Amino acid sequence: MFLLVFVFSVVLIFFLFFFKPVQITIRSRLRVLEDLRAFFRHHWPGYYMKFTPYGSLVSGLGFNNTFLNVNIQLDDPDLQRLVEVQNAYANDVTEPFCKNASIPLLHRAGVEKISFDSDIGSFRLKFSERAIEYNFNKEAFTYSTNLINHYLTMDPRVQKLLFVIKLFGRGRNLFASQVKHGIRYYGYTVLALSYLSQLDPPVIPNLQHINHSSVDDACSFETCFSKSKYWDKVIFKNQNVGIAARYHDCVEYNSQLPETEYYVQPDPVNGKLYWNSKNKASVGELFLDFLHYYGYRFDFKNFAVSLKFNGKTAKNSNWKNHCMAIEDPFMTTTNLASTVIEAGKIIDVFKGAFSILRGGTCFEYMRKKVPELSRHDAPEGVNNDRPKYIPLSGWTQLATSKTFLLIGLPKLEADGCYCDRISNLFSTHGKINRMLDLDCETKQVFFSPDTGDATTVVLPSTIMLNGSLVHLVELYNFNISSIKS
Ligand SMILES: [Zn+2]
Repeated sequence: MFLLVFVFSVVLIFFLFFFKPVQITIRSRLRVLEDLRAFFRHHWPGYYMKFTPYGSLVSGLGFNNTFLNVNIQLDDPDLQRLVEVQNAYANDVTEPFCKNASIPLLHRAGVEKISFDSDIGSFRLKFSERAIEYNFNKEAFTYSTNLINHYLTMDPRVQKLLFVIKLFGRGRNLFASQVKHGIRYYGYTVLALSYLSQLDPPVIPNLQHINHSSVDDACSFETCFSKSKYWDKVIFKNQNVGIAARYHDCVEYNSQLPETEYYVQPDPVNGKLYWNSKNKASVGELFLDFLHYYGYRFDFKNFAVSLKFNGKTAKNSNWKNHCMAIEDPFMTTTNLASTVIEAGKIIDVFKGAFSILRGGTCFEYMRKKVPELSRHDAPEGVNNDRPKYIPLSGWTQLATSKTFLLIGLPKLEADGCYCDRISNLFSTHGKINRMLDLDCETKQVFFSPDTGDATTVVLPSTIMLNGSLVHLVELYNFNISSIKS
């Protein structure tokens, strides 16, 4: 078996050597960003607009023909119209986000191949052969790119594994941009990072919860992004949803310091937090095990893939009818696999790829030339003649409690708190241990479910208080008994 993994790894390393992510294209693509900015400035001069590039090109994981993603942030009242005006993308003809206003102007400016995806409110187009995809008020996505970029730096194998998955997905035509009912590449990225975080020992730490000795995940670094106020309501699919885009950018990879087993550690010299995974699996082993994990081991029926919760979390109430769920790391209510209508098809592709590779076929041949990959299902290799596969072990953490934010609390009329009412609302699920006021309309709540297992409890994503819709965004799970008081 070791020989087989070795051969497979050598083929993969050889392959990676020749196919590197295209990083230079970002510069030429940024020119198209300037063209886009000039276009909007010219036609909507009175608007506040902030243009932020994000996505796989910015992460250095793009290909020559990858779209450059751009978020256009407008002032809140302008954006609010996306929720308030019915079908604003079509009907609100004075606004820059209206397709009926902007598409004719873009055509006149010589732009080709314009398409609009009403599900996610995004425009795709080509400025002289340079592809760009823009949308409005997806600033949350730009924070997600920062989080992904930080994970890429946590171990040299992360970017290589993501790149192999991207090559595989493109070779098999799996991505949602190419095939209907698929998952977008960002969903695959979260799938891969979640897998790496649940291994025992993990390849990457959990950057959304590093301080396992403190209930509120306190960070001693003043400049850490986890301390910024990044909780809010954002417009997603024409609805307001809660978001908590906070994570620790204070952690650095350092291969010179002692290995880290489960949690980040302080550098003994300067106290800076570092990570140096104890897991030494090769990229080839990780890719094979990734396919086995999602093909044969993951329970998609009852669980959602979750990077925030080290691999998995109970499917939330909105996703009960979704056959596959991949939780967005910042917007807990968003399922990155909501477009999938037959999870079995994707799972079968993972199983097939595992079977074929396990049978000794090389990666490049498998990714393009094996017809109907999904027909192959043999954990011991296609001819069933391989030794039994021993998966890399997974990390099962005991989590007795969870913490979440309540965003959008109504203003209080007199001194006081909604504490009793909130406690009552959650009393059927468990007990609230503590509440912290983060700002006048946001509270952080520490909660222990009656079942004693935080990974299986399902909380509502919104609650009503005094006639206001309050958004619940889960932050992380923790084990209360392991925390020093
Ligand atoms: Zn931090």
